[in-house]
Amino acid sequence: MTAHVTTTRARNILTRTSGYLKGVASHSLQPYRGCSFGNALCGVGCYVQHNAFLTRGQAWGSFLEARVNAAELYTAQQAKERAWAYRKGLAFNVFMSSSTDPFVPHEQRFRVTERVLQAMLENPPEALILQTHTHLVTRYLPLYRVLRARTALRVHISIESDRDRLPGLPAPASPVRRRLEAAKRLKEAGIPVLITVSPLLPIADPERFFAEIAASADAVILDHFIGGDGTRDGARTLRTRLPAAMAEVSAESTSLTYRDRMAGIACRHLPGRVGVGGAGFAGRFLKMP
Ligand code: SF4
Repeated sequence: MTAHVTTTRARNILTRTSGYLKGVASHSLQPYRGCSFGNALCGVGCYVQHNAFLTRGQAWGSFLEARVNAAELYTAQQAKERAWAYRKGLAFNVFMSSSTDPFVPHEQRFRVTERVLQAMLENPPEALILQTHTHLVTRYLPLYRVLRARTALRVHISIESDRDRLPGLPAPASPVRRRLEAAKRLKEAGIPVLITVSPLLPIADPERFFAEIAASADAVILDHFIGGDGTRDGARTLRTRLPAAMAEVSAESTSLTYRDRMAGIACRHLPGRVGVGGAGFAGRFLKMP
């Protein structure tokens, strides 16, 4: 299925956060509505597909709407939203993005994310977290070098497993190898990088996987679909094809026991730099025994 691509002029661009994001940033920013990676592996379990307000009845992965005035809106709205954050005793921190990927392939055509980043150079948030599933995140590396001097920038790259494929499911948005290389490139350029193993999928060689992450990133966060998809028991994900495909590879992987076992291995490779679930996204890492 190819995404139907449209443009729009949004009315708001900075969303005050709720749920698990509340502990991570004061605001989220979505340069697009929908996601052209919705038909890739990450789209199968993507929790955003359950957000009827956002999908407006359209199948996940079938649409992408570029918010072409996002940069102008950021410039116009940042002072008011910054003041709101301060009144709440928060820092003005922006998470980009929680319901799309800022580096979808159409970004090359629309440049919405790039223009938002340029607008942030003038009015930087106190922290900016870029969350992505693709190696295309390195495209704006020269811009990150400048931004880094003005805001606490960090990049989260999702790599759910060392496997590129699960039985019966589509290919990932970007191969595992390329995402690891992207992380390493950013890290070597001095940009803080976290790997989000989210949602955690069955890992073929955990020792090697976490050793590679340790060599390519500053920290790792493990998040299981149980507790990580916005429901306590993973009910949203259980309605998708993801758990059955995971179980076909490893029955244990659909339980929190698996997450905890993987976290133990990760801790050996990245001592003091392993986070789990919402606490991990908020920057709280596991204490070493
Ligand atoms: S890139 Fe993110 S928002 Fe897009 S389908 Fe994958 S998980 Fe969902």
